[in-house]
Amino acid sequence: MAEKRHVWRLAKRPVGDIQDSDLKYHEEPVPALQDGQFLVQVGYLSLDPTNRIWMSDMEQYMPPVGLGDPMRGGIVGRVVESRKPGVEAGTLVAGLGEWASHMVSDGTGLSPFPEVPGISIAQAFGTFGGVGPTAYFGLLDIGQPKPGETLVVSAAAGGVGQIVGQIGKIRGCKVIGIAGGPDKCRFITEELGFDHAIDYKSEDVGQALDRLAPEGVDINFEQVGGPIMSAVVSRMKLFGRIPLCGLISSYNATTPQEEPGRWTLILMRRLMIRGFIVTDFADRFPESFQALGGWMLEGKLKTRQDVRPGLDKALDYVKLLYSGGNFGKLLVEVSKI
Ligand code: NDP
Repeated sequence: MAEKRHVWRLAKRPVGDIQDSDLKYHEEPVPALQDGQFLVQVGYLSLDPTNRIWMSDMEQYMPPVGLGDPMRGGIVGRVVESRKPGVEAGTLVAGLGEWASHMVSDGTGLSPFPEVPGISIAQAFGTFGGVGPTAYFGLLDIGQPKPGETLVVSAAAGGVGQIVGQIGKIRGCKVIGIAGGPDKCRFITEELGFDHAIDYKSEDVGQALDRLAPEGVDINFEQVGGPIMSAVVSRMKLFGRIPLCGLISSYNATTPQEEPGRWTLILMRRLMIRGFIVTDFADRFPESFQALGGWMLEGKLKTRQDVRPGLDKALDYVKLLYSGGNFGKLLVEVSKI
């Protein structure tokens, strides 16, 4: 059994962009296992935009990470020792864990994770571990896409966005992705089959939408907020739907960055806007795993992971999410499992 572990602990709540001094990397003894506990060797750590929210004490959907506590993160890992009946050494588990090489758990927040022949652990975790269900329920339950409708998705080449656009195509929509830079735009159109891409870093999003979607937008899968959101919302059609998934452009802001009120537009065009957190759909996750897995096997759904080596560099890697430095679902390879 491992005697030492590495773990990132929250030292300070970030103000603005995450700073190197906000988290500290520690080497610590692995706590002795108690009855009902098991030890997990972490294989991959998921880095997610919401990490910045958990570091803060803003209003959020679960308790903020406490100062001095291990940083919370999605993980997949292997049980290496167990004193919990029913949990065998060798089992692969995934769920909410810690930015750590090893963690002791009583099982809270973790579930067995299937090993699917032909799909690597990184790809399975980077698809089913959170972003897949987010895309699936956000688009299908809230967006309610119908054939021939126009779907716009922002942060389109990222973990959630790449899946949203492909489900939109499966459902017969015209799909327009908004992403930063020519490589990401080429990826979503040429490799993933989106109809159009808008590079918000080199063109005006509103003008591009007027050219690519003169009919207007039925569904805006919103992940970014700010001026990009404004450009899309002002082009929504009657009875349009907005699954409000994220507002990443504001996560590092030190002053309020809310989209200005558009109540008249929402009323006149009868728009439906619903914020959601993927865990709202937790009791239906198996439905999304089955559908997403089926589409992958049929070759209709591809997912790209951006796997970076070394837990010790996790703090550098997480910053990539807020500058667009990641290309696909961002994972840290912590150990070979
Ligand atoms: P991504 O893999 O999409 O990474 C984030 C991307 O956001 C970056 O690569 C960048 O892409 C884009 N971005 C960052 N800052 C800005 C900015 N200022 N303006 C425009 N684009 C920006 O991350 P995820 O797929 O994990 O998450 C995407 C969104 O979905 C986030 O808002 C996240 O909080 C949300 N989310 C919500 C969930 C929920 O339950 N509601 C669950 C999971 C995610 P680019 O290079 O194209 O700019």
